[in-house]
Parts: sequence; C-alpha cells; structure tokens
Amino acid sequence: MSLVLIAEDEEALLEIFAEVVEGLGHRAVRAHNGEEALTLARTEPPDLVVSDHMMPRRTGMELLRALREEPHLSTVPFVLLSAARPVGREEADTFLAKPVDLSSFEQAVTAALRSRTPSEPRPPGHGAMRESRPASGAAREELINWVAHELKTPLSSARLNAQVLLRKVAQRGAEAECRSAEAVLRQLDRMNQLITSILDAGRLSEGKVELRTAYCDIVPFLTEVVSEWRELEPHVEFLLTGTRDPVLVSFDAERVRQVLNNLLSNAVKYCGERKRVELGLGLSPGLAVIHVRDWGAGIPASELPNIFDRFQRADDNPDRGHGLGLFIASQLARLHGGSLSVRSSRGEGSTFLLRLPLRH
Ligand code: ADP
Repeated sequence: MSLVLIAEDEEALLEIFAEVVEGLGHRAVRAHNGEEALTLARTEPPDLVVSDHMMPRRTGMELLRALREEPHLSTVPFVLLSAARPVGREEADTFLAKPVDLSSFEQAVTAALRSRTPSEPRPPGHGAMRESRPASGAAREELINWVAHELKTPLSSARLNAQVLLRKVAQRGAEAECRSAEAVLRQLDRMNQLITSILDAGRLSEGKVELRTAYCDIVPFLTEVVSEWRELEPHVEFLLTGTRDPVLVSFDAERVRQVLNNLLSNAVKYCGERKRVELGLGLSPGLAVIHVRDWGAGIPASELPNIFDRFQRADDNPDRGHGLGLFIASQLARLHGGSLSVRSSRGEGSTFLLRLPLRH
C-alpha cells in the first residue's frame, strides 16, 4: 500500500479521485489547495502526489516546484491534472488533461507509483481551456462560454462517477444496470463534447488559440488519420488519394486532426446509403489542398453560405449535432493562413476543401 497525496479544490472531484486511489489499494490523503498539500507532504512524505493545477493558495505547478526544492520530497512522482495546458507542465512526471478518464487516471497512478523516480514527461493532452469570467452585463456569447466553463468540473466528476458505477455493476454482472450506466455515460460524453466545442469556439473567436506548428510531410499524418477512421468505422469504405509523394506543410497536427475529424465524422454521418468517404491530397500554387468527399444527400444551396457559421445546421435533426464543428474547423484553417470551403449539390454529395499554405 502506498500513500497518495491528492490536491484538488473541487470537493466532488477530490472525493472521486480519493475513492479511485483507495480502490487501487492505496491510502489517500486529501488536500483542498496547494498550500495544504505542501504542509501535508512535509508532515508525512507521500509516495505520489496527484494534483490539479488551478487551485487557490498555490497552483499545481507552484506545488510541484516547491516539492522539487525540498530534499526529502524532490523525487516524489507528480501527476498533474488540468483542463488548461499550464506552462512548464512537462516538469511533472505525468500530465493528464481534464476531464480525466477512469482508466487513464488509474494507469497514471499505478505507473507513477511503480517508477518512483521522475520519468519522461508525457505529451500534453487535449481540451485546453483558459480561466474566463464574465464581465457584468456580459454578452450572450461570454455567458455561454462562462456556463460551459463552469459546467466542466461537475461534468468531469459525473463522468468519473459514472465510469466507477459502470465498472461496479459490470463486476456484479447486472446487465440492465450496465446498460443504464452506459447510457448515462454516453450522454455525459455528448455534453462533454458540446462543452469542449463551445469553449474552443469561444477561444477561437477571441483569438486565444495558438498553433504549435511543425514543418513536415503531411502524407504520413493523413495516412494515420485514415487508418484510425477505418478502424473506428469498419462499415464505411475510406479511400485515400494523392498521397504518393511527400508534401511538406507547416501545420499543427493536433488542430488539423481536429478539422479532419470533424469533416470525416460529418461525411460518415451524412454519407447515406453509399458508405464511402474519400480523403485526398492535391496541390495548387503555394497550397496543399486536402479534400473530404462523400456521396450522400448533399447540402441545400440555400444553406451553403451559412454552413461555417456558429450553431448553423443544414438539417433539422437536433440529435445529429450542434452546428459548431464547421465553425471551429474553418477558424482553425484560417489560423493556419489557409481556408475551408465546400462544394455540394443535392443528391450528389459534398466535398470539403481544406487549403493549407505550404509555408506559413
Ligand atoms: P454538426 O455538429 O451539426 O454536424 P457542423 O458544424 O459540423 O455541426 O455541421 C453543420 C451542418 O452542416 C450539419 O448540421 C449538417 O446539416 C451540414 N453538413 C456538414 N457536413 C455535411 C455533409 N458532409 N453532408 C451533408 N450535410 C453536412
């Protein structure tokens, strides 16, 4: 049994993290802020610290640096959790992006305890988010962003609890309860996706998203994206074209993946009976042109001018989406110095064209 110090200012999250750690057979010590965590660590040195970043009276990063300064605490493994991507997060042994999944959390705790010495930093996670508070008399948009931000924490806690619940009922072999827990989890995942999109869209509108571009061949990246989709949707035929020769592009892989995932998921969603989607690469002067094509119902001409606007949907089935994906995708294309456009006609399908400058 190891001693795990958990620092988290949200009571509901602190409790569920502690419950999971205890479920792994360890002793959990709870701290509600960074300062309390430091005092507790000095009193009884833990085998592992799991800490949120955004905490009052000492952030997670400040706690990490304070521990590293103390001779008998400097090598205690540190798992940092955050919905944002705090500067210096690579100093922690492991960084986990919130909302954290039950199994990734358990794996991180187990791996960190096993190593007991600082290991290679993990790559940063997804879902970056910044603190934002509404000004008084805030505009609707600001209010939406604020609500989304405030919903993030209770939602993370609800998701983790639902995952714990699902595991418990599965262990008992209670099938009906499993189905209910899975349904709860699915809906929470949908809410989580919506909230992430609202926050992303807000940050893009405010110009707060920064790209981390690398200049490299985009072909292996496109090949990887397609093979992921083939695995995810085995009933759909995915074609990959124009990728014989290397094409050097300056792009942020995480963000372009987000754009392509949106275009590909729409293509899968709207491809109708002809379950075929094409991802292709071509060149025009100074630009790499990536297209995503489907042979589905297409988009009515009257809807085309608005399709890249926020909350804009061309069909009226609210279960199929929330109309933020294409707005985010086009903003990300622009941020790269490129563009996103569409050609579509009723009954013949749609082709989305993502243009990225070869050099930015
Ligand atoms: P959503 O989450 O609603 O799919 P998007 O912003 O990604 O949001 O798409 C906006 C709307 O554009 C969709 O609701 C859909 O009506 C239409 N659309 C997007 N892609 C396609 C496509 N490949 N075929 C037909 N309609 C599409």
